[in-house]
Amino acid sequence: TGTTGKPDIAREKSGELYEKAKKYFPGGVNSPVRAFKSVHGTPLFIEKGDGCFLWDADGNKFIDFCCSWGPLILGHNNAKIREKVTEVMQNGMSFGAPTALENELAELILSNNKLIQKIRFVSSGTEAVMSAIRLARGYTKRDKILKFEGCYHGHVDSLLVKAGSGLVTFGETSSAGVPKSFADETIVVSLNDRKAVEEAFEQFKDQIAAIIIEGVPANNGLLIQDKEFVHFLRDVSAKNNSLLIFDEVITGFRLGFEGAARYYDVKPDIITYGKIIGGGLPVGAYGASVEIMSSISPEGPVYQAGTLSGNPVAMAAGIAQLTELAKSGFYKDLNKKAEEFTDSIRRFTTAKNYKFKVFNIGSIFWFAFSEKDIKTAEEIDPASMEKFKIFHRELLNRGIYLGPSGYEVGFISAAHSKIELEKTKRAIFDSLDIVFRTAR
Ligand code: PLP
Repeated sequence: TGTTGKPDIAREKSGELYEKAKKYFPGGVNSPVRAFKSVHGTPLFIEKGDGCFLWDADGNKFIDFCCSWGPLILGHNNAKIREKVTEVMQNGMSFGAPTALENELAELILSNNKLIQKIRFVSSGTEAVMSAIRLARGYTKRDKILKFEGCYHGHVDSLLVKAGSGLVTFGETSSAGVPKSFADETIVVSLNDRKAVEEAFEQFKDQIAAIIIEGVPANNGLLIQDKEFVHFLRDVSAKNNSLLIFDEVITGFRLGFEGAARYYDVKPDIITYGKIIGGGLPVGAYGASVEIMSSISPEGPVYQAGTLSGNPVAMAAGIAQLTELAKSGFYKDLNKKAEEFTDSIRRFTTAKNYKFKVFNIGSIFWFAFSEKDIKTAEEIDPASMEKFKIFHRELLNRGIYLGPSGYEVGFISAAHSKIELEKTKRAIFDSLDIVFRTAR
């Protein structure tokens, strides 16, 4: 068991499935982070989920804090979602023609969200962002996009770009296969850096179509921005006739029905959604004012389409999930539970003097093996991920499933009861004791 305090869980069946999967898929997976490259062992193949629990192919049971990377705010296999989806499926899976279900989901969203007036459904977060930046470019008749280092917006070509050297630079592609000319349309600056944003607008005067930022950056640690910085972005984009896009694929319907925009009390020009909006099925969306949305085809000149957009089964899942979230007190209860959970971990690590920080906003949390108040990607110490590796293994061996990377955030769902959160805390305390004993 190496440095671990508990014996490793059985992984024979998952191991066999992974060997097979490697023959079929690059790296054995259909999305890279699932490959367990930055933690101990090979991926667990999941057989079943129910409430806050997951079971893998070897019969191991876990309390799950990955929650399918965010969509499952009601937990796994929620009865209301399952029933609605099953009912709708009886009438067929897809028509490629409008259905009343699309109206129903749109009405549920727009009547509870005063930040957008019209919406368009797509099938993933990536698609939502890709369409939103096309819309921003079409509407402003400008080409450049300003993004922040450490923000992930899906695998959109021109956003797979990282900062070059220097305060304000064109980005460098962060994936092979992205033409340099695409990256040249993307300016990348550090989070929480007003000066860099101002310089970008000076240097590329009248060329920047939009600033895009995650509602709360949550793909590279949880980089909670100050309200002042977010309001500054709103002001500087308006002053320069450029748009502000909030990518709320994680934070939309997670921090509240109106997401991070309401949390920061800011009104972006375009907002993207994904994950929670589809209740576990593939749905993304983008929304804006009536005026901006009128640029989208068939009303306007910005083309965007999808064979399975607004798919009835996916709409049904979204309707069932968002109906629960729209009920009074839903977020208050969930966020309170998350606050108590993270606070008690903080009390433990402070008492033990461990170099460990818990960041949280609403029901999103992130564990960092650091003492710093981290707000930018550059402040994360890559060496600290070695500790996360031990931590992740110890937690798995104690029946706690976190996303398999120290850069990923965790999610608490409505299905995590106090009992499971207590059990998780004890597992976290024991695992931290082992991490810090091993590291000394
Ligand atoms: N935007 C953000 C903020 C995300 O977190 C993600 C996915 O994690 C995406 C966009 C892309 O969404 P999808 O994976 O559904 O394409």
